[in-house]
Amino acid sequence: MPDTLRQDQDPGVTLITPSAPIANPTHGGRAKCLQRLVRLDLPVPRTVAIDFDTVHRIAHGSMPNMERILDHFRPGALLCVRPSSEDPDWGGPGSVLNIGMNDAAYVDLSDRIGADAASALYQRFVVSFAIHVARLDPDVFEEIEATGQQGLSEALSAYEEEAEEPFPQDPARQLAEVLRSMARAWEGTTARLLRQAKGAPVDAGLGLIVQEMALGLGIGECGSGVLQLANSDTGLPQVTGRYLRQSQGREALRGGAGSIFLERDPRGPSLEELAPDAFERLKQYAAFMRLKLRAEMQIEFTIENGNVHILDGVRVKRSSRAALRIAVRLAEDGIISRPEAVMRVEPRGLSELLHRQVDPEAERDLIGRGVAASPGAATGRIVFSSSEAQASAARGEPCILVRRETSPEDVRGMHCAVAVLTERGGMTSHAAVIGRGLGLPCVVGAVGMGFKTQQHQLVAEDGRRFGEGDVITVDGTSGQVLAGSPKMIEAVLDDSFQTLMSWADEERDIGIRANADTPADALTARNFAAQGIGLCRTEHMFFDAERITPMREMIFADSSKDREAALARLLPMQRADFTELFRIMEGMPVCIRLFDPPLHEFLPSDRSGMRELAEALDLPVSDVTRRVESMGEYNPMLGMRGVRLGIAVPEIYDMQARAIFEATIEASHDGAPVVPEIMLPLVSACREVELLRTRIDAVAAAVRNERGRDFDYSLGVMVETPRACLRAHEIAQHAHFLSFGTNDLTQMTYGLSRDDAGRFMSHYVQQGVFAEDPFHRLDAEGVGELVRIGVERGRQGNGGIMLSICGEHGGDPDSIAFCRTAGIDYVSCSPFRVPVARLAAAQLAI
Ligand code: PEP
Ligand code: MG
Repeated sequence: MPDTLRQDQDPGVTLITPSAPIANPTHGGRAKCLQRLVRLDLPVPRTVAIDFDTVHRIAHGSMPNMERILDHFRPGALLCVRPSSEDPDWGGPGSVLNIGMNDAAYVDLSDRIGADAASALYQRFVVSFAIHVARLDPDVFEEIEATGQQGLSEALSAYEEEAEEPFPQDPARQLAEVLRSMARAWEGTTARLLRQAKGAPVDAGLGLIVQEMALGLGIGECGSGVLQLANSDTGLPQVTGRYLRQSQGREALRGGAGSIFLERDPRGPSLEELAPDAFERLKQYAAFMRLKLRAEMQIEFTIENGNVHILDGVRVKRSSRAALRIAVRLAEDGIISRPEAVMRVEPRGLSELLHRQVDPEAERDLIGRGVAASPGAATGRIVFSSSEAQASAARGEPCILVRRETSPEDVRGMHCAVAVLTERGGMTSHAAVIGRGLGLPCVVGAVGMGFKTQQHQLVAEDGRRFGEGDVITVDGTSGQVLAGSPKMIEAVLDDSFQTLMSWADEERDIGIRANADTPADALTARNFAAQGIGLCRTEHMFFDAERITPMREMIFADSSKDREAALARLLPMQRADFTELFRIMEGMPVCIRLFDPPLHEFLPSDRSGMRELAEALDLPVSDVTRRVESMGEYNPMLGMRGVRLGIAVPEIYDMQARAIFEATIEASHDGAPVVPEIMLPLVSACREVELLRTRIDAVAAAVRNERGRDFDYSLGVMVETPRACLRAHEIAQHAHFLSFGTNDLTQMTYGLSRDDAGRFMSHYVQQGVFAEDPFHRLDAEGVGELVRIGVERGRQGNGGIMLSICGEHGGDPDSIAFCRTAGIDYVSCSPFRVPVARLAAAQLAI
């Protein structure tokens, strides 16, 4: 019967020919790919595709005509059935091979390929039909050890005993039952939950393909295997795969024993030696598929008496680093375009390349887990304080800083540690922000573990105790904390990385800057081609040993005069900080945020600290303690911080503005002219900006006068309170730029402490209250609404205003997508997230 007529009668069952109407999702990815291989005239056995609707009907008892399906194949041919879902990652029922095997076929095959091979095929089919289709007790069949005719007859009688009927001989019935069992397996609850966990929609369909088998068993060179032309781990060109003589399906990959190398290999025999022609042909087919399917493919093949058959082709599995190299090579070979290569690399996967990682193959001895706050992994000895971290670094011993939470005082300790683990915190808590800034692996909010920092003990979820000096590993990519030192894989920033990034930059239409506080951060930012600094948090500059004392004196000063005297000691240090940053950035924009945190963060919190401070200030300890206590606030994050300090204690901002302007003059002397950007934090009222602008203008005028040099600067406002978004039209009239501080804006919009959210965030995400941690992915509906209002009103008030975001969301691909549609000019994120942001932004523009 001609094929067209058959298709009229059974529209859901289609022989795959070059012109047959095969599509994904109607027939699934495997069917579509097989049609491509057929179009390329590759030696693919005859294949029939059954579409999603028909398979769904099969699951509910309505079978297509089996005879008509069988008519597509040579009489007596053995068949296999394989799943074809829309996305191969969603899984599917296992393939069933050798359908059609029965007593008659056994006799026929014994003549053609010998009794041993025929028995083996028949026995395999009986066992797989019994277990996967008839659902008989697997133990009974798996325990059959005999092979050859003995094994076959044991399998047949076991079947008859368990099923209470002889093994079905009719190929049409065999095929019908295989199709029904596979269709039902797909609709079972476990399978559905598993694929939904991988992102499949609730109503994801399954197609099935029925293919004539190339046997892989018999006389001459017979066997099966897989081959690909690139290494899945490295992405480098390399013929890899396995081949197993006298085998079928993916046995070569499963068994191991007896499987051999493809290319000549000193460790053992190879396909190249056994069957050089077949090997050559396979490589040519793979190269042809790469060229025509425009992807690095793994081919599944069978060799039957020396002849090569291609059963399937799938995109090679690949690590992130391999994905990047493969995409770049495909573009360099002219097979895909550069924008396509950019689209093929998952931005989040880049962090695997930028940091050391625990080897995916390594064993993991889990101690506990928390929020994966800063990616990468590191191994070191436990220390419980920043001073111990410094001592450890001085001895050259890598250490992991374990704290309940970190505060600005711990920054030096963090610099000395290889990773940080805290009990409290979330994505934007102190440890997380600093960790990401430094590229330091960090796990925060590790609630299941005991942090007995006073007793210098860390108690694992399973009760094991770890003390100071014990070796642990923090995996900031997965959020896991591990005992000991698992094998690691190193970061790779090779030419392919740089090439892909430069292609990404050609496409991108939103700016990317880095949040950088220190010269080291600024160098990292430049390394990753950030277009400037979008946020320099200046408070971190005051924790150095030589600065903390004048800082504290300034805080304790009774009069403006005393305060100015203390600040005068800080001025040259700040000036040097800014000069260095300007020099490193070589004329690129640098946005400096004036002092933001509550002052008492700079004061000691324990007795020994009070004593030290009393000595430094020549005051009684009781005085110091009283003064420190009097500065305490009920809710410091909503208290005297940010611009409020600037208004109440204006000398601090005066000093910082002077330091910035003097550094501007110094850095412009021997380099590109610097135009600093000065940013006011935590603004909620227009008048705050007016007052401070007047003051900062006055400092600028004074410096110009004193130095006899002119310079420009721009003044901007951090929009991080809801009120600033709502009043953005007024505020914008006094500002050159607005930068949305989405960390505080999220905190204030939700009324959710960014330092405490980690405690319950996982419950909220698991139970679907939040789709994602809003400190991690910008909440487009709520916080986003305020940002949109801020953008619109800001532009209304000042048409030429520059708009950006500098909260941690700046490095998150989904949040970048939001910013781009909201009309933001640039995003600024931690330096190590800059490449992720560049790639994500490019993909949005393509
Ligand atoms: C913010 O609030 O979004 C911000 C960038 O500032 P910080 O994280 O320093 O509060
Ligand atoms: Mg803030």
